[in-house]
Formats: sequence, C-alpha cells, structure tokens
Amino acid sequence: MEQFKHHVSQHRDGTYSLGISIDQGYMTPEDFTTLSDLAKKYGVTTLMATTAKKISFMDVKEENVNPLWEDLEQAFGSRLCFPKGKVIVCPGSRFCKFATPGRDNHAIGREVERISKAHDAGKVKVGVSCCPLGCAMPRVRDLGILATARGWMLTIGGNGGAKPGVGEVIAQDLTEEELLALLDKVYQYFQENKNGKERTIRTVERLGIDHLKAAILK
Ligand code: SF4
Repeated sequence: MEQFKHHVSQHRDGTYSLGISIDQGYMTPEDFTTLSDLAKKYGVTTLMATTAKKISFMDVKEENVNPLWEDLEQAFGSRLCFPKGKVIVCPGSRFCKFATPGRDNHAIGREVERISKAHDAGKVKVGVSCCPLGCAMPRVRDLGILATARGWMLTIGGNGGAKPGVGEVIAQDLTEEELLALLDKVYQYFQENKNGKERTIRTVERLGIDHLKAAILK
C-alpha cells in the first residue's frame, strides 16, 4: 500500500476520498476551475462540498492520491489546508449583515488553524461564528467560538455525534488576544491530557467542567 502524505479515507471499492480546505472554503471561480481540471486529470468523477466547508475528491485511485496532493500544493500553496482542526467559519465578517461589528471571525479561524497545527491534540472540531446565531455550529463542536458585542466567547465539549451534547462556556467577553492565548492553552492541555482518541465532550464528562476550567485557566 502507498504511504500517503496525509489522511485519506478508503471506500468499499478501494478508491480513496481526499478532503481539502482552501481558505476555509471561500474560493474564487478560478479556484473551482483548477479543482475541476485536477479532478479530470486524475479521473475523479465526483467532488463533494462537505459540511465542514471542505472539498472532497471522492474516488481517487490509490496511485493518484499523492500526485493529486502534490498538484494541489503546487496550485494553492499556503492557501491549501488539510485541516486536522476541522475549522468551520461562518460567512460573518466578510459577508453577513448580522456579523458583530469589529470582530473578524475569518482572521480568528486562520489563527485557530495555526494553533491547531502547532499542537497534537487529536481530533478537535471548531466552529467560529461572528454572532450568537451560531451558523458555524459552535455549540456542538469540540470548541465553539462566538463573537458578541462584549467580546469573544469560548465553549468546550460540544458534540453532534451519537451521544450529542452542548458545549460549556469556558470564558467570555474576551479580547482577540485573550481568546488566542486561551486557545493555545486549551490545545496544549488536550495535547498533554487527552485519553487516547477521546473527544472534548468525553473529557468534560470524565473530569468535570469545573476541574477542566480551573486547569486550563490557571
Ligand atoms: S453566525 Fe451570525 S454572523 Fe455568522 S453567518 Fe450566522 S448570522 Fe451571520
């Protein structure tokens, strides 16, 4: 079997899906043309827009996975992300009339990807919304980030899976700098204290939100 340069999922027919993110899902028409050209070049018949604003090449042959990834890197450079953090960012500060003035959730999303990449905290899904309406589903993601008129709110332990749960507020009314510093601590904490592949909701259940808050905020 090939050594892949990143995670892919194998399908029943032996092909693989390769999911990528370009600028958190906000792309130009030219980007779509490039993606289409690469899909045709490697015989990919189906592209999927995922719930996490990724594009997934759905039926990539094993021998084409790495060449396709290399072409994607060549075409998109630093705009290309294979997001282990799985960050969803709502249209917010770039497009939405409801976005909280003065808050840039796209900049926060990019910073979260950077912080995520700097740690090995396992699967941490993040939603970054620019108002409390929460279109990026922050309260049911491992980490939820919401802009309010008073500042940023951070929640932890949301999950939309088999045993769903709503994230607990860990801090609010934060400046951007305070939020990013806290996120760094949260990723560091999970890197050091995660229990195998445990998701944040299970960590909250195991340790209790008060213990977790005290440990992270100290
Ligand atoms: S969360 Fe708020 S700012 Fe973001 S898209 Fe929804 S309504 Fe707009």
